[in-house]
This record gives sequence, structure tokens and C-alpha cells, in this order.
Amino acid sequence: MKIKKILVANRGEIALRVMRTCKALGIRSVAIYSEVDRKSAHVVYADEAYCVGPPRSTDSYLSLGNVMDAVRKSGADAVHPGYGFLSERAELAAACAEQNVVFIGPPPQAISDMGDKTLARQLMEAHNVPVVPGTTGAVTGLDEALQIAARIGYPVLAKAAAGGGGKGMRKVDSSFDMKRALDLAQGEAGSAFGDARIFIEKYLEKPRHIEFQILADAYGKCIHLFERECSIQRRHQKVIEEAPAAHMTEELRDQMGAAAVRAAQACSYVGAGTIEFLVDQANNFYFMEMNTRLQVEHPVTEYITGLDLVAEQIRIAEKEPLPYEQSDMMIYGHAIECRIYAEDPSSNFLPNPGRVTFHQLPVGVGVRVDSSIEGSGDVPIHYDPMISKVITWGRTRDEATQRMIFSLGDYQIAGVKTTRTFCRRVMESSAWQQAELSTHFVEDYPELLSEKADTPLEAAIAATVLLRKSDTQDIPATSWQNRRKD
Ligand code: ADP
Repeated sequence: MKIKKILVANRGEIALRVMRTCKALGIRSVAIYSEVDRKSAHVVYADEAYCVGPPRSTDSYLSLGNVMDAVRKSGADAVHPGYGFLSERAELAAACAEQNVVFIGPPPQAISDMGDKTLARQLMEAHNVPVVPGTTGAVTGLDEALQIAARIGYPVLAKAAAGGGGKGMRKVDSSFDMKRALDLAQGEAGSAFGDARIFIEKYLEKPRHIEFQILADAYGKCIHLFERECSIQRRHQKVIEEAPAAHMTEELRDQMGAAAVRAAQACSYVGAGTIEFLVDQANNFYFMEMNTRLQVEHPVTEYITGLDLVAEQIRIAEKEPLPYEQSDMMIYGHAIECRIYAEDPSSNFLPNPGRVTFHQLPVGVGVRVDSSIEGSGDVPIHYDPMISKVITWGRTRDEATQRMIFSLGDYQIAGVKTTRTFCRRVMESSAWQQAELSTHFVEDYPELLSEKADTPLEAAIAATVLLRKSDTQDIPATSWQNRRKD
């Protein structure tokens, strides 16, 4: 079965990225957009576009009814969910199945099983995948939480069973803190996910976040595409990723890769997915969660394997068998991704949405930029403030780092504060270059956060843009959009 038209149920860089593969494969693409995204790059790039409602995501990109209406109107024969929004809602996969539309992702059961972190832990334990020590199910109350914490030892983490995006997670240093932490985590989980269930797990000191990309076809065959290290985080959320992991050994990679494949098979997974692990300082690894979708950081895996993961997802959804064996997979060189967010690193990465008045992307050998804005455009307040991802490849980690340093130097952006300079400083730091990594990297090196004047070239551009601000206001809908149509 060949897919002819894909509706991309998302916005921003990931919608564009999926549509580019559609174009390469000769598949028509359909965009959806909220009222505030009418002129967005993904809308211009698509072959067709449908409005799914007002700016608030709950009324548009998260409205299953509105999205499925667009599917019906467009006559799309498949839906790609991207990441975020409805991508990990089993209801979207189920609604597609009901309407005889292909969902480019796993079966609804796998999504709902892995979406419940306590159920996922149980499945992993049953399939011999190590999990962080803690409760198997959700805790029934304060007494049980205290008992478990006393057994595994403080500090512990109170975590939302339905968690995601770092929400509903609280560190508990001693029994005195438990009640407050439970209340806070429960409150946050209840309002963010409509599910206040909490479980307890051991808090690992300075772990590394290492995840494995897997691909599974509809016939039970599953391989892994090696690891990505995502230890550089703020608010428990990734900001810089790389593949392969700097200190990985062949032995650990084999063990973790095999565990990742078992994890995928445990939930009868089909499609592209990611198994996230924490690795402690003694190289013990523990399953943390499975993401049943494409990850933001998938391009680093594409660089080191040479595969187009969206094309792989589409072929699997078309019920093609995986044409590769594990032994066919090779790691070519090293890739790094820096996420450019409209955030202010010197104010605890506070989101800084607004109008990007000037945006010029770097180019070069081994440089890829997946961006939601070209030239100029808006970062709406309603959505995640990520603007773009700069991905570099090199034959070695050092070469990829050097290419990232020059790319971030060439990256010009005016109008909003971003993580660009922070990322460049990380690349220039000896801690990064020596690969002294842990999820506490940002707290350990606060000097990387301080505000410093931009390069003279950037300062000049910012000043010029400011002077010409009134002229540049209308740029987004005209010049570059026409270029795209060529
Ligand atoms: P979410 O689904 O909300 O993103 P995760 O479970 O994936 O949450 O965890 C996000 C991050 O939080 C991890 O990458 C890590 O930095 C931190 N974290 C999660 N669990 C633990 C733990 N048990 N010990 C230490 N840090 C943890």
C-alpha cells in the first residue's frame, strides 16, 4: 500500500521537516494551522492547508475533532503527528484507524501502555529491562511513599505517572519534605495531565541521559539505531544532544541496545520510537521512559546512520518490512544538535516569544538547520518557543564541535533573546570538549549563562534591524515565501 497524501498534524520546524520528506518521496502534504499560524512557513510549504481553530492549542492543534475534520476535508490517506501536541495521544491513532486513515506511528495500545510510566515500568521489569529502583505502581498515599523512600534511600523523585515535559516531578531530600513534594507533584500532574497519580523512584546523582532510537516493522522485526546523549538540559528538558555518546563502550552499547529492543518488543511496538535511559556514574543503566514518536533530536541519528527517519516511518506505515539487519547498521562520525529557543538563559531560560526581525541561518559542510522561521516571523506565545535546531556532523566529535562553533557564530537572529550564545559557549567550554557531562551540566557551569555582548557583526545587524524595524514588519509573508514556491 502506497501513501499518497499525508496530513501533518503539527506546526513549526517538525511540520516542515516531515513535509520535506513527503516532497522527496512524491507524497502530497497537508498542513493544519491555528489562526495565529496562518502565514507560518509550514503552511506556505504544504500543498494544502486547513485552519483548525483559534490560537490556543487546546482549541486547535490539540483538538482531536478539528484535526480529524481537516483529515476528512483534505482526503489525506495518512496522518503524521510529529512530536508534542497529539503525537502521544492514543485517541488520535484510534480515530485514524476508525476512519481508515493510516496513522504514521505505533498502535494505540503501545502509545497508551508507554504513556503510563507506572505501567511501562511493570512491562519493562517483566521483560528484563532494568528500571530505576522505586514503586511498581502509583503510591496510595503519604505512608506508602514514606515507606518506599525509606527502603530505597533518599533522595527520591516523586514523579507523575502520566508525566511529560518535566512536569509533575519533585525531588525529595528527606522524609520531612515528602508531604509537600507529593502535594506539589500531584497538583501539577492533575492540572497538566488530568491524572494526579504519582510514583516514587530513586533520585540518581548526576546521571547521564542516554537514549536509543529503535525501528520496528509490522512483522515483529526490531533494530536499534544506536544512542543519543541528551544530558545537557534545563528544567529537566534537553537543549543540546549528540550521537554517539562520548564515553560509550561497545559492550555497554550492545547491552543497552539489546535492552531497548526488548523494551520495544514488550509493548509490541511498530514504527520509530525512543527508549530513554539514565546511566549512573558506575555505568549502570535504567529505563526511564519510552517516547512513542519521533524525537526533536532525531537528526543526529540521521547524520550518523545516513537514514531519513521520516521516510523509514512512512515505509513502516505502508507495511513494508524493515530491509535492514542490526549488523547492517554502522555509525558514521559524530553529530551534535543545539536547540535555538526564544528563551533568556540569563533569566533561568524564561521564554521570550515575539517577533524575529532578522534570521539568517548558517550553511557549510556538515551543517543542517531545521527551522520554523526563515528571514523573519513570529514565535507565538501560545506554543513551545523553539525556533530552530542547528545540527552539525564531523568525522570526530571535535570536528562536529568546531563546525557547531562556527555555525552558531554565523547564525544571525534579532528581535528575541535566544539560547544561541549559550550553546556556543557550551561548545567552547573545556567541560564540553572533555565530555564531562551529566544532567547537572547547566547548574555546574553557571558562567555559561551570563549575558555577554554579541559579536560586533551581530551588534551591527541588531542595530540596523532596529532602525529599519517598521520596514521589516511585513517581510514574512512576501519575500522568502515566494522563494519557497520556486
Ligand atoms: P519527562 O517525561 O517529564 O520529560 P523524564 O522521566 O523523561 O520526564 O525525565 C526528564 C529528565 O529528568 C531526565 O532526563 C533527567 O534529567 C531527570 N530525571 C528523571 N528521572 C530521574 C531520576 N530518577 N534521577 C535523576 N534525574 C532524573
